[in-house]
Amino acid sequence: MANEAAGVDYRALLEEERASLVRQLQEIGFGEDGTLTYDANFADSSQVTAERGEAEALAAQLQESLEHVEAALRKIELGTYGTCARCGKPISSARLEAQPATALCIECASVRR
Ligand SMILES: [Zn+2]
Repeated sequence: MANEAAGVDYRALLEEERASLVRQLQEIGFGEDGTLTYDANFADSSQVTAERGEAEALAAQLQESLEHVEAALRKIELGTYGTCARCGKPISSARLEAQPATALCIECASVRR
């Protein structure tokens, strides 16, 4: 209820997202800082290398999302949340509700240099 004026509590949405990403990382054996924690669970077998490769690719994606979520949380702290990182214009609330961790407005996100 902290952000009642804005209608949506983006901090709560982001913290939920963050918790979900951390949980997914842990499920595939990674700490939230990207370190492997699952060595003990992997038996020595020819599957290990392939499975680890897949897990690492997935972990890299999850960590990228986690970085975006954490950057957005920092922006809430700084009071700059909801402002496009590229053009400085406000990001629409519809977009923020759909993607709370986004750093770009819809125009900038749809333009790929
Ligand atoms: Zn923009």
